[in-house]
Amino acid sequence: MRSFTGRDILSLNEFERQEFFRVFEIADRLEPIARNRQNTDLLRAKTMVTAFYQPSTRTRLSHEAAMHRLGGRVTGFADPKTTRAGDFYQESLKDTVRMLEAYGDVIVMRHFQAGAPQEAAGWSSVPVINAGDGWGEHPTQVLTDLYTVLRERGRIDGLRWLAVGDMRMRTMHSLGHALSQFDCPVTFVAPPADALFPGSPDMRMPEEYKARFARSGLDFREAEHVEQAIVEADVILVEPVIQPDYTLAHHEASEEARPSTPANYKITRELLAAKAKSDAIVLHSLPRMDELPQDIDTTRWSRLWQEAFNGVVVRMALLALVLGAVE
Ligand code: ASP
Repeated sequence: MRSFTGRDILSLNEFERQEFFRVFEIADRLEPIARNRQNTDLLRAKTMVTAFYQPSTRTRLSHEAAMHRLGGRVTGFADPKTTRAGDFYQESLKDTVRMLEAYGDVIVMRHFQAGAPQEAAGWSSVPVINAGDGWGEHPTQVLTDLYTVLRERGRIDGLRWLAVGDMRMRTMHSLGHALSQFDCPVTFVAPPADALFPGSPDMRMPEEYKARFARSGLDFREAEHVEQAIVEADVILVEPVIQPDYTLAHHEASEEARPSTPANYKITRELLAAKAKSDAIVLHSLPRMDELPQDIDTTRWSRLWQEAFNGVVVRMALLALVLGAVE
């Protein structure tokens, strides 16, 4: 297994099976610290720099919380408008990253352009963690999802997944890469063009990703309606289909009425009660729209808040690993 020390976490395409388990092993070791609301000094001498070119609630704050739990320091920006990268100068990624690498020991970057964290890693002498890039990938979210499955179901292999939502989403791409390392068949359910309203985009898995998944041996199929796959699903991963364009820097709040999500792409309490396996679990990276109504939170299928908590734990493990504190 390759060492994690000094390594960039950019894509799950480059992750090997044993590496997933290594992250989860360290997460298990660090989990009690977060559960007991303690802080340690494992990363006392380290600083994390956040570079968020797009809004974030969970990903930025859970990285920060993880760093605090491990006794490290945090600096960075949550909105590029407060920096020269977002004003008149539109400072280049290269110049920005050459600054940031001097300010800390790891850079966590979210960007509206797919591939920006990869480019940053090319300029940076410290590890770069991809916190979501355009319609690219979101590796730390999917590591969190898999860790949640491991904790909640006791295993990853042998479980069948249903993934529903906009397949242009970065989480879905990281998911396909990750599941190719496990015995986990997955069914993708997403709207074709015009399914939401006239002119709505094709949200099915892009051909480029399907080709990559096929090459890596992922057992996947596509279906048109969640009802075609929910009965046999052990893990139901939901993402919105009513959502902004992730390649834009800013998503304006809108007063306009939004279309509602068609039943094909919605997981409701009634559907779960009628069709889901008794021990299936539901995950969502959040934020949600109406594809996963709030009343599912008080069903036995929901693991949304465990997933949110595990987001801190997995990021503690990643930071400890890439900063060389646990090898
Ligand atoms: N759906 C979100 C995204 O990819 C998940 C998150 O906020 O991290 O941006």
